[in-house]
Amino acid sequence: MSDTMTPEQRHRCMSRIKSKNTKPEMIVRRWLWKQGYRYRLNVSQLPGRPDIVLPRYSTVIFVNGCFWHAHEGCDKYRVPSTNADFWQAKFKRNRERDQRNYKLLHKMGWHVLVVWECQLVAQSRSSTLIALSRRLSEIFLDVHKVKRYNSVIDDDVALAAEP
Ligand SMILES: [Zn+2]
Repeated sequence: MSDTMTPEQRHRCMSRIKSKNTKPEMIVRRWLWKQGYRYRLNVSQLPGRPDIVLPRYSTVIFVNGCFWHAHEGCDKYRVPSTNADFWQAKFKRNRERDQRNYKLLHKMGWHVLVVWECQLVAQSRSSTLIALSRRLSEIFLDVHKVKRYNSVIDDDVALAAEP
């Protein structure tokens, strides 16, 4: 963190750092629980320490804050105008780290789903959660059917993070 921040900037910045039990994550967790999904939280042995782990679905879910995870093209993600270079570099690292973790998880056989904070605002929350549930049903069928070939499963829906 840069020393040239004003106390007010620093406070704003620090208050964004609280990563545990953030509201967006709680929205997803509460909803999954109500739907009958059972999960584990913040499994530290897995790359990137996914927020939600659904072992029966071979699926991990990241609920990403748009600012820290640098959600491209999103209103909630803006590079601060002071120390722009510092922030640019930081966001680039965060993005690269995320992609690296998603790839590792994928290689380990996990499906990686990413839910963005902005997809959970009131107007889009229910459609996001329904899409998530639909995706989990598809994955469940995939995981529990006999694998006929060794193909890489392509998670090409909006919620998925893999390229
Ligand atoms: Zn966003």
